[in-house]
Amino acid sequence: AAKSTRGNQYKLYRANMDGNTDKWLLLETKLHQALKNDTLELHYQPKIDLKTGSIVGMEALLRWNDPELGYMPPDYFIPFAEECGLINDIGVWVLRKATTQAHIWNQTYGLDLHVAVNISPIHISTGGFVDMVREVIAETKINPNTLEIEITEMSMLDYTEELIQTIEDLKSLGITISLDDFGTGYASLNYLKKFPVDILKIDRAFVQDIVSGKSGIAMISAMISLAHALELKVVAEGVEQEEELNVLRKHGCEFVQGYYFSKPLSVIDFTNEILEKKDTH
Ligand code: C2E
Ligand code: MG
Ligand code: MG
Ligand code: MG
Repeated sequence: AAKSTRGNQYKLYRANMDGNTDKWLLLETKLHQALKNDTLELHYQPKIDLKTGSIVGMEALLRWNDPELGYMPPDYFIPFAEECGLINDIGVWVLRKATTQAHIWNQTYGLDLHVAVNISPIHISTGGFVDMVREVIAETKINPNTLEIEITEMSMLDYTEELIQTIEDLKSLGITISLDDFGTGYASLNYLKKFPVDILKIDRAFVQDIVSGKSGIAMISAMISLAHALELKVVAEGVEQEEELNVLRKHGCEFVQGYYFSKPLSVIDFTNEILEKKDTH
């Protein structure tokens, strides 16, 4: 099932490209260069503990700004990177960059912030993934207990004993595993039971539905209950309004991310606005 889903995505992608092979090649060359020349960037969005209101960590989000092509959002170029075979190198780069930065911030400010990194299902299913992560941890000296890896529901469609073993191995290194975009994919509840994840990230679409009426609240409440029944913690994504926050708090959601608190910020802005609490604007 996983292969055909991806195959369809791929076809869709090619169709969106208008069969434009030139553009395809240009993008591939540019992305390859950006990676090699270290011109990709990570922005960091704070994650807030709903009980204390304090920041407990951040999610690293990839930014690609090409001088010629302009800004391209990750929803656009990550699927492309997955198709053209650059995604594993990007994943290693992101891991190294994010853990290095988190380690610096924790050392400088005497904090214990967690850093969450998005990893493609293709990458995590590649042989040697755990060894690579172990090496990056040793190299960047980050406390593995502060590293979080986010995988999407898509990964669960590639349900194999190998993937479960990989997740177990990562967890035994001290890493936290989050299931991203929960509720948007095709994975059944049965997969959720089998996958040894620690955190469930409720997709922004469900958070948005909170203010739209009763069923929105019912869905959120059910998702949080389900997570807690499975002994998982919950992060709600895309929180923009106070009302959403109140509902999430009332139903026992542990953590939130969203524009209500902060957009993803560059290293400089995160340092100034979040860690130094200086308003630079
Ligand atoms: P995601 O991991 O689910 O990340 C959440 C997305 O929601 C981010 O978009 C973030 O900027 C956005 N967001 C956060 N709070 C709010 C809010 O309150 N309102 C709204 N409207 N949006 C909010 P972004 O940065 O464009 O990333 C999109 C997706 O691209 C990510 O979804 C993730 O799936 C993927 N991605 C980003 N960086 C990486 C990466 O380094 N590696 C991989 N494999 N995928 C990445
Ligand atoms: Mg994510
Ligand atoms: Mg998400
Ligand atoms: Mg997403």
